[in-house]
Amino acid sequence: MKVNKAEIVISAVSEKQYPADRKPEIALAGRSNVGKSSFINKIINRKNLARTSSKPGKTQTLNFYNINDLLYFVDVPGYGYARVSKKEREKWGKMMEEYFSLRDTLRLTVLIVDIRHEPTEDDRMMYDFLKYYEIPVLVIATKLDKIAKNKRSAHIKRVVETLDLDQSDSVIPFSAETSEGKEDVWSYLSNYMK
Ligand code: GDP
Repeated sequence: MKVNKAEIVISAVSEKQYPADRKPEIALAGRSNVGKSSFINKIINRKNLARTSSKPGKTQTLNFYNINDLLYFVDVPGYGYARVSKKEREKWGKMMEEYFSLRDTLRLTVLIVDIRHEPTEDDRMMYDFLKYYEIPVLVIATKLDKIAKNKRSAHIKRVVETLDLDQSDSVIPFSAETSEGKEDVWSYLSNYMK
């Protein structure tokens, strides 16, 4: 898809701030520093709309991006950052629960993992949390440029097995460095934009 318009609409902390126009939504989740901002920026062709390497532990918000007046991308705050206080973590949990349990315009969550490593315990918890709410998940295995071509299928298999991925969910390998996977991502997302 050609993205002509991508702009932040609101940074929300609670439900009453979510957009009310009922466009379909695709949420994006991942461990802090996994490459989520780079993924978002690459697929919408912006250098720096979603902020890369933003400091974890600061104000945590759900960032709603209007994409072509057609749908919202909802960037959810990264998880798994060790130096976050218990209070911050609780706030994060409440915000996530409120969004994922209530949001009936949510069509799909994109879960971003690092293709180089086995998904972490936090990644598994996030995946299980999404499955508990029966939300379709697309896993993006990013930083594809960092592994050798002949290792790809083994790494993808490890992602599928470690997350114990549902048959109905998919993994797409991706690189924000080379743009590999970008077309596959858009063709997958187009099924969830109605
Ligand atoms: P976020 O915290 O999840 O939003 O992560 P960022 O998008 O800020 O990325 C964290 C670091 O990983 C940055 O230094 C990025 O340049 C780097 N990075 C992200 N995606 C890729 C990728 O596909 N390939 C490579 N080689 N580096 C990446």
